[in-house]
Amino acid sequence: MLQTQRKSRKFKDWDFYNLNLSGSYYLLPFRFLQLNNSQELIVNEVGDYLIVPEGIVKKIVKKEINKDIDIDLYADLLSNFIISEDKVPPLFDILITRYRTKKSFLDYFTALHIFVITLRCDQTCHYCQVSSVVQDKNTFDMSKKHIDKSIEYMMKSPNPNLTMEFQGGESLLTFDNIVHAIEKTKIEALRFNKVVNYVVCTNLAKINDEMLSFFKENNVLISTSLDGPRFIHNQNRYRLNEDSYELTIKGIQKCREALGPDKVSALLTTSSLSINPYGYAILSSKCNKYEVSEFLKFYKKALLRIIDYNLQGHFFREDYATIILKKILTPFPVGFVDLQSPSGLISGVVVYNYDGKVYASDESRMLAEMGDFTFQLGDLDNDSYKEIFYGKKAHQISEFCVNEALAGCSECAFQTYCGVNPVSNWRTQGDFYGYRPTNEFCQRNMGIIKLLFELMESDKKIENIFRSWIHN
Ligand code: SF4
Ligand code: SF4
Repeated sequence: MLQTQRKSRKFKDWDFYNLNLSGSYYLLPFRFLQLNNSQELIVNEVGDYLIVPEGIVKKIVKKEINKDIDIDLYADLLSNFIISEDKVPPLFDILITRYRTKKSFLDYFTALHIFVITLRCDQTCHYCQVSSVVQDKNTFDMSKKHIDKSIEYMMKSPNPNLTMEFQGGESLLTFDNIVHAIEKTKIEALRFNKVVNYVVCTNLAKINDEMLSFFKENNVLISTSLDGPRFIHNQNRYRLNEDSYELTIKGIQKCREALGPDKVSALLTTSSLSINPYGYAILSSKCNKYEVSEFLKFYKKALLRIIDYNLQGHFFREDYATIILKKILTPFPVGFVDLQSPSGLISGVVVYNYDGKVYASDESRMLAEMGDFTFQLGDLDNDSYKEIFYGKKAHQISEFCVNEALAGCSECAFQTYCGVNPVSNWRTQGDFYGYRPTNEFCQRNMGIIKLLFELMESDKKIENIFRSWIHN
């Protein structure tokens, strides 16, 4: 068989790199990307960006930008910390403060504590990621002992602002346990001086007045799922002899009336069927998993439709785009665990499973439901807070949680806007590190971020719409 000769990856001689640079400025760290046929994107260390004509990056690197000729460009490069006239820029402290602000989500530790309060469910969604079971309360509901222990560990988090999120299965099947957990947490929060926000994830089929009044009293937010119009939702989220779409819509209305319009949110699982690579979905023969390219086509179509609504005068925001746009257009971080570096695993989110096992994220426990316990941090019966949150497994995972240190990401222009997901890397590519050129997480985010830049660049009106999303 004919073998292609492998090219040497050794460093070349000095002459190869000696560009004979004579310019009067210094280069600061920046990353760049060919945005389209005629434009390049340059991004600095804190996410400030410039869009310039093709060829400018080469000129910058060769120090061919002339202060007296390219007056505006030179000023832009200087003020955006892409070049500097001194070895250390005079406003370096500002850059440091900006960097610290971008990473300020790290100031505290785990904020989001997910309680898988039961694994039982009364619905059969075909992509269900939690192997729902309609049986044995004692085996599949979280015990009071484990609820109390999880609350004890949650209170040990140094973060003064916590979110306690109840997930299932269908969490309302064990409403009495939710009441117990919230009542207990209220007492402990006073003792430990914490502010706790409560979220209940539910399909809403079982919501009733007693539950709504308890949620109102305790300022509980409701998170549900709505997959689109009736024919899609009902196909995705099947209920025996019941119309799950009808139940969800009525449930949302009830929640809005009882709790307020902003207290209930509905998430879409893009389907026909799920694109999510976790959980039982990929084992299901009914599942027609999307390719990333198909997803991106769908996403673009949906986003353009949403932009159109906005152009007609209706405020309608796409949340994933908004998270990324906040990173692009503001100096602030966004507390979204899936799109940050270091990744939100453990330092941002942790999952207490119904059986007392503790996982690094929601996706991690979904893997465990399929028999893969790679991301189990420990269990409530045998491990201390320290062993779970700072133990060997936590260290092992954390090594792969920084995209600044991953091949592909380290030189990517989108690095500051993107994140890192070792669980997805493990699930789809077999190691924590991942291989960017064929990585789905990478392809999806790269496609979406590039699209947002292209749209902003194509029409000032779209940029204004995007800016309205981040400020509302
Ligand atoms: S409602 Fe949730 S837990 Fe129940 S089957 Fe559907 S996805 Fe699974
Ligand atoms: S995952 Fe891909 S898009 Fe995101 S920073 Fe890494 S290389 Fe860039």
